[in-house]
Amino acid sequence: MNTLTRLTVLGSTGSIGKSTLDVVARHPDRYRIVALTAQRQDELLFEQCRRFQPVYAVLLDEGASERLSKRLAAAGIDTEVLCGTAALERVSTLSEVDAVMAAIVGAAGMPPTLAAARAGKKILLANKETLVLAGHLFMEAVHRSGSALLPIDSEHNAIYQALPRGYAGDMKQSGVRKILLTASGGPFRNATLEQLQHVTPEQACAHPNWSMGRKISVDSASMMNKGLEVIEAHWLFNAPADDIQVVVHPQSVIHSLVQYVDGSVLAQLGNPDMRTPIAYALAYPERIDAGVTPLDLFQVAKLDFAAPDFSRFPCLALAYQALRAGGTIPALLNAANEVAVAAFLERRISFLDIPRLIENVLGEVARAEVHALQDVLDADAAARCAAQEWIGR
Ligand code: NAD
Ligand code: MG
Repeated sequence: MNTLTRLTVLGSTGSIGKSTLDVVARHPDRYRIVALTAQRQDELLFEQCRRFQPVYAVLLDEGASERLSKRLAAAGIDTEVLCGTAALERVSTLSEVDAVMAAIVGAAGMPPTLAAARAGKKILLANKETLVLAGHLFMEAVHRSGSALLPIDSEHNAIYQALPRGYAGDMKQSGVRKILLTASGGPFRNATLEQLQHVTPEQACAHPNWSMGRKISVDSASMMNKGLEVIEAHWLFNAPADDIQVVVHPQSVIHSLVQYVDGSVLAQLGNPDMRTPIAYALAYPERIDAGVTPLDLFQVAKLDFAAPDFSRFPCLALAYQALRAGGTIPALLNAANEVAVAAFLERRISFLDIPRLIENVLGEVARAEVHALQDVLDADAAARCAAQEWIGR
């Protein structure tokens, strides 16, 4: 089988977006780009339009979209430029689109991803925030529309590969005892609390194994990324918090594991390169070349494991608490974290203020049940407001 898949790439100018286009470019007979989107990087989006000739290009920034339109016209490229958040939802639900790569960063990625699920598109999910914010609504939309959902996050992609084919969300029935979610531990794995007090955005963004966007890099340094991934795993695999164990594994060679009741533990290994999970999800159930260097176990030589330290990485504990509390609490956690990370990157708060700020917001904004998208949006807005106030104090 080798049919053509028509793709929308949300967040095409980001780290995951660029890796996606790299894999797509290796298989021009299999993939066609229908739409590319970015927040405001019109120059890179122009280069991507020239290369992939999409039908649509979406920018959120008006000035940037005007510049892109002019450049495309001058170059004789007939990509139509759209502007605004409604256009993100439009290109995620077009009838001529088969699959949507959800690679916008943060809560902003949730509405178009949810729209794609409701429209029954195949979803390649990198935007973990969608599941943290609206896991219940999103999974319900996926099940109702019959969307195929493939995780891009390397850990969840590994778990997906290690679970039985066709796993239907019942761990017990599948003989699964635990999900073992690996974490590199980030750049501050061995730092003391005293050292953590003084770390800079540059140090936080220098991840030892992965090259990623700035927000997820800071999340990796605080281990909030792993916390968000615990919540992500809960929704993707219908796994209770108690059955998701974080395992610190500094080499990032094992991308996660599934422990079965018979004592078997299945793992997925590979070099840390996001093109592997991207290629897996693009081609599923087939396998295609991703351009990734083959893993050399002799070079890796050894694999280490340790338990996470919740006292130096309180964000991880906060995420477990949020998952157990349910309702709008994970949405509050996510929003407070986004504001905190942005403030840290702007040097307005310290690294250890990130969990302090989040804890404060969770204590201030009341929990509500999630019945509809509006409940999530309200929680998100309230948490952002409380977080800004905390920073202003
Ligand atoms: P990035 O910052 O490199 O790129 C983000 C993309 O989203 C860019 O194209 C940007 O233009 C766009 N964008 C940013 N804000 C936007 C907004 N408000 N509205 C619309 N578009 C916006 O981020 P990334 O590292 O590629 O991560 C993308 C997503 O994938 C995140 O949810 C992240 O958690 C997840 N993820 C990333 C990696 C990785 O290795 N980078 C791994 C696993 C999961
Ligand atoms: Mg990950």
